[in-house]
Amino acid sequence: MNRGNPLTQEEEERYARHLALPSFGMEAQCRLKESSVLCIGAGGLGSPATMYLAAAGVGRIGIVDADTVDASNIQRQLLHVTSDVGRSKIQSAGDTLLAMNPNVELDLHEERFEPENAMALAKGYDLLLDGSDNFPTRYLSNDVAVLLRIPNVHGSIFRFEGQVTVFAPHMGAPCYRCLFPDAPSEGAVPD
Ligand SMILES: [Zn+2]
Repeated sequence: MNRGNPLTQEEEERYARHLALPSFGMEAQCRLKESSVLCIGAGGLGSPATMYLAAAGVGRIGIVDADTVDASNIQRQLLHVTSDVGRSKIQSAGDTLLAMNPNVELDLHEERFEPENAMALAKGYDLLLDGSDNFPTRYLSNDVAVLLRIPNVHGSIFRFEGQVTVFAPHMGAPCYRCLFPDAPSEGAVPD
């Protein structure tokens, strides 16, 4: 997969702790560099997820979000700081991630993840990361991952509880829709 050493000297220094990690090393670091992830949402889940992915050296990170930063976001949405209030979340996220790791290629999609654009947005990525905060987007993210035969990493929280699940239906495992065939009726479960 990798011929020679495809990391620059700057990258070797940056990822030194990965490279020194037994059973990780150069091969895994290069695989991260060749990998791509699309994250739906630059909020409470998308923030730590994309920050760790960028810091770790995932080569291409896409983010989809149409919102602007609100003062009530800052307490948990770590991509955005106080001076970002009122800015587009995508622009704010891009600045933070680029400052963190300029080696990462960012695809910033300032739009909603909707049935009309979802397949086109997700095509070409190795993995979908569902950081959405509502059920229609959650089901859409699942369906797109099933159709594209890529894993869908799904996270959700409620107050003091959190869940994270890796759905890999293309490897014979059930998808989100297999587990929960019917979305809850509107208002039955808080976003
Ligand atoms: Zn299924």
